[in-house]
Amino acid sequence: MTTTVSQLYQEMGIDADTLAFGESVLEGLKDRFEAIDAMAEQNGLKVLHAMQEARLSEAHLNGTTGYGYNDTGREAIEEIYARAFHTEDALVRPLIACGTHALAIAMSGNLRPGDELLAVSGRPYDTLEEVIGIRPSKGSLAEYGVTYAEVELLPDSSFDYDGIKKAINDRTRLIHIQRSRGYSSRKSLSVDAIGDVIAFIRTIKPEVIIMVDNCYGEFVEEKEPSDVGADMIVGSLIKNPGGGLAPIGGYICGTKACVENAAYRLTTPGLGKEVGATLGTNRLLLQGFFQAPTVTASALKAALFASALYEKLGFEVFPASNEKRTDIIQAVTLRSAEGINAFCRGIQKGAPVDAYVTPEPWDMPGYDDPVVMAAGAFVSGSSIELSADAPIRAPYNVYFQGGLTWPSAKLGILMSLQCLKEDNLVSLS
Ligand SMILES: *Cc1c(COP(=O)(O)O)cnc(C)c1O
Repeated sequence: MTTTVSQLYQEMGIDADTLAFGESVLEGLKDRFEAIDAMAEQNGLKVLHAMQEARLSEAHLNGTTGYGYNDTGREAIEEIYARAFHTEDALVRPLIACGTHALAIAMSGNLRPGDELLAVSGRPYDTLEEVIGIRPSKGSLAEYGVTYAEVELLPDSSFDYDGIKKAINDRTRLIHIQRSRGYSSRKSLSVDAIGDVIAFIRTIKPEVIIMVDNCYGEFVEEKEPSDVGADMIVGSLIKNPGGGLAPIGGYICGTKACVENAAYRLTTPGLGKEVGATLGTNRLLLQGFFQAPTVTASALKAALFASALYEKLGFEVFPASNEKRTDIIQAVTLRSAEGINAFCRGIQKGAPVDAYVTPEPWDMPGYDDPVVMAAGAFVSGSSIELSADAPIRAPYNVYFQGGLTWPSAKLGILMSLQCLKEDNLVSLS
């Protein structure tokens, strides 16, 4: 006798009511899921075309050791990223430890003492506060004489054009824009909105360097910020573009000059892009990039499902289920620390790895408040894999993202609801 899907769900801890509730939510999402699949087709072809144009070959899948001179696989990866994101050049390396590191070298490589960094989408992602020196920190840009200014987004999460115009001055050298929401309740920014503000900034100061923190945004729209005039887009390979396979890494794609400056910070002045062994990671970076559009589509479906499901239960969700998406993050306001803990417990229970452990809040390096993280990932800390994190602070938002496959993401979300139900934090009747 074969086991039915609903029996399997039951055996894994999802009861009939939770499953039925989930299915009723999914009924209303069919058109949206189709649109996501169409996006994955378009972006998948874009990447495949880049691989073919770069004449990717089997030899590129191997890596180097030592200095890593003439690593043709590394060069192919960088050419493919540059082609796919339509930039002059790219720096895509396993030596880049994480997204924060990629952003730090993009900024510090392109800023000089006396320059000003201007953030025009409000306060940057938490970990950048120490890179910039907003929170005093050893080795920050502030210690090297780079000043910082910031323009908040308007209450409707649009750019404050007047504020930006006033803030740009003689010393403004690099402008920071963050596409994704990060740990805030603001909206993520569409590529079109980013394009509009870039065009505006160019009328005031054409030569300023515009950098977009593209974390979580890759392959969510047809275009990337590099298609609308950004000088650099920067992100992490254990998020969207790594496709769940890249075991480490970050990228900077942009103008030749910007990428070169960043490379001098990653390695050394003079050496730049010429060194940096890849230690057998080339195949994973390439295969991961190949899969990234489809994996990102699964993550988008997961975000949309979670949004629609928690919205139907009366929770505040960002974005709302009917809103256009430009990153893979879904925030749900759970209104209590208990809610956060139950939600994260459920996500953990749905994971392929470490499903039996219970996530607890901890003081994570680089973050101000204790953070709970749920993740049972093949790549440690990978947030393109189903994961949830929540700083323990009012209004108790949980930030949910990832899902390498849609069925596994669906299970995780149903499990989060099951846990909230079992802790009497929601009722389906
Ligand atoms: C994840 C993230 C970062 C930092 O990346 P890490 O890999 O965690 O260092 C920066 N900005 C945004 C918007 C992010 O989502």
